[in-house]
Amino acid sequence: MDFELTKEQKDIKQAAREFAEGEFDKDLAIKHDKEHSFPRSVWKKACELGFVGIHFPEEFGGQGLGVFENALVVEEFCRKDSGLGTALALSDFASEIIMRHGTKEHKSRVLRAVASGGMISAGCFTEPNHGSDITCMDTSAAKENGKWLINGTKTFITNGTIADVYIVLSQTDPNAKPTYRGQSLILVEKGAPGLDANDVGDKMGIRMTSTAEVSFSGVSAPLEALIGEEGKGFYHVLEFFDESRVEIAATAVGIAQGAFDRALAYAKERQQFGQRLADFQATQHKIADMATWIEAARLLTYQAAWNFDQGRIDPKLTSMAKFYAGRTAVLVTDEAVQILGGYGYMLENEVERYYRDAKITEIYEGTKEIQKNTIAGILIKKK
Ligand SMILES: Cc1cc2nc3c(=O)[nH]c(=O)nc-3n(C[C@H](O)[C@H](O)[C@H](O)COP(=O)(O)OP(=O)(O)OC[C@H]3O[C@@H](n4cnc5c(N)ncnc54)[C@H](O)[C@@H]3O)c2cc1C
Repeated sequence: MDFELTKEQKDIKQAAREFAEGEFDKDLAIKHDKEHSFPRSVWKKACELGFVGIHFPEEFGGQGLGVFENALVVEEFCRKDSGLGTALALSDFASEIIMRHGTKEHKSRVLRAVASGGMISAGCFTEPNHGSDITCMDTSAAKENGKWLINGTKTFITNGTIADVYIVLSQTDPNAKPTYRGQSLILVEKGAPGLDANDVGDKMGIRMTSTAEVSFSGVSAPLEALIGEEGKGFYHVLEFFDESRVEIAATAVGIAQGAFDRALAYAKERQQFGQRLADFQATQHKIADMATWIEAARLLTYQAAWNFDQGRIDPKLTSMAKFYAGRTAVLVTDEAVQILGGYGYMLENEVERYYRDAKITEIYEGTKEIQKNTIAGILIKKK
């Protein structure tokens, strides 16, 4: 067993760090956070340098690297800035479904554009009545006159108002039993008549990403817009979660590390009662806890990413990484705000934004309770 990153992986991590340090400006981040706007200029530059879609095959505009390398980039981005990092990490959201199951045409058109900064993607699974439970969809797609006709509403869709392509989980066989065997994924393009997207409203964190309700009223798509196999959409999404949950875990590790860095630096500077905060044992224990949780979360995330790239898909491990890294991000950012005291509560000092941005990692891509259900379910079934 070798815990060392390869030379190439170290270089990627370093390059991602240097890019973030050079381009992620604090005032810019605060502006986008306040305005709820997507950081388009930084995203474009990240795409130009090959950070977005680093895990896509080279023939489709990527760098031909793995989930592991993508996790390293995302971690470094979120470490430097929780909001900018998350927005960039999610700009290619669900494109992996196209990478794994799309036709050659889908891949050449969409992946190449997503990686080069020409397109933003959105994955539409959640519905108002189907959140954690996506085994049945109210959104339907029926074949009519040689086309798919899509009707329904998706909610909480990341990139919803800014996406160029939407990957939509729909019920294509309403009579399937169980219902999830009648679901399929359809690629819908921005501007399709009947497609409407509106932000769901103000939100706690990750405010540089759009979160929208996306409705489909008689939206038509060619039959070739089917991604993967008809009736296998649910399974394709579950497979995607094995990959995407690693990415979310990496965002959580980065957010936790970024908050920790700031708290540690502050504890070494700030004096009270004639000594540094870092000289109080209460602070030292916080620092030890935070560093230990982060290291454990990072190891789990790297292991899940590495296993995925080896083709050893392990949903239990992926769920453990996502659950533990999310918990770590929430706990560490809370302690970071605490160490900065009143200053930690102020926008200017960044950790309050890390604190707000951390919480979503316990909710999207399956809540922490759903991750625990997966972990326990696999452990209990095992003979
Ligand atoms: C900012 C943001 C971005 C998002 N982006 C996307 C996106 O891009 N695409 C997309 O499709 N969705 C997206 N989502 C939706 C997200 O994945 C769902 O919110 C999440 O899966 C939970 O669904 P729900 O909100 O309907 O909660 P519910 O499913 O109603 O759950 C409510 C609570 O009950 C618990 N619960 C539910 N079922 C169980 C169970 N079986 N056992 C134990 N506890 C349970 C949950 O853990 C949770 O605590 C996003 C959400 C947010 C807030």
